Amino acid sequence: MCRHLAWLGAPRTLSELLLEPAHGLLVQSYAPRRQANGLMNADGWGVGFYPTSGPQPARWRSNRPLWGDASFASVAPTISSTCVLAAVRSATAGMPLEETATAPFHSGQWLMSHNGVVDRAALGPHPDAESMCDSALLAAHLFHVGPERVGDVVVGLGTCDPAARLNVLLTNGRRVLATRWNDTLSILSTDAGVVVASEPYDDDPRWQDVPEHHLVDVTTDAVTITDLET
Ligand code: GLN
Repeated sequence: MCRHLAWLGAPRTLSELLLEPAHGLLVQSYAPRRQANGLMNADGWGVGFYPTSGPQPARWRSNRPLWGDASFASVAPTISSTCVLAAVRSATAGMPLEETATAPFHSGQWLMSHNGVVDRAALGPHPDAESMCDSALLAAHLFHVGPERVGDVVVGLGTCDPAARLNVLLTNGRRVLATRWNDTLSILSTDAGVVVASEPYDDDPRWQDVPEHHLVDVTTDAVTITDLET
């Protein structure tokens, strides 16, 4: 399982969100605390963020471990954004090891990351997918049916493929949607903004665990958590 994170709130640097937290994505790339599948996340990493210049996100991805990227470490303190989505990858057996298989995946204003595994046959053909990786096909599928329908899509796939793990993170820069489906998910809500992450990046007591099989919907006004099975 990979580990991922999204931020929506006041401007934060990529360094503050990914590299500086005591148990942030940088540390989770070699020592995650709550990862049930896989020991580390060394098969690539990526970050997407919304620049002040316009609504289209920018991305930086790599098929190498986050801890080895000295160039990113040097620029990360200088890039800030009100909305960021990032992930570190532990590739599922049989999936391609390439930059285009690494989240975040992108379409229009949307970014997407997937923690988990899903049967590619359940997704159907998606010639526009960035990679043949299951997560890239899932992203193409969600971009096709509409990212706002992520809850329905996860319930449908989870019913067809009971072994699937479908923790999905989506954002368009103004809203973050996240599912917990057979992996861990936590949120930290503060006056400055909201973090949604596979696991807490520090020991702040305000972190809350999202219950299994729930959807999190974050806007600048509210955080809503709903049961996907009712
Ligand atoms: N199945 C996806 C991949 O191979 C995600 C893996 C994961 O969550 N560890 O990249």
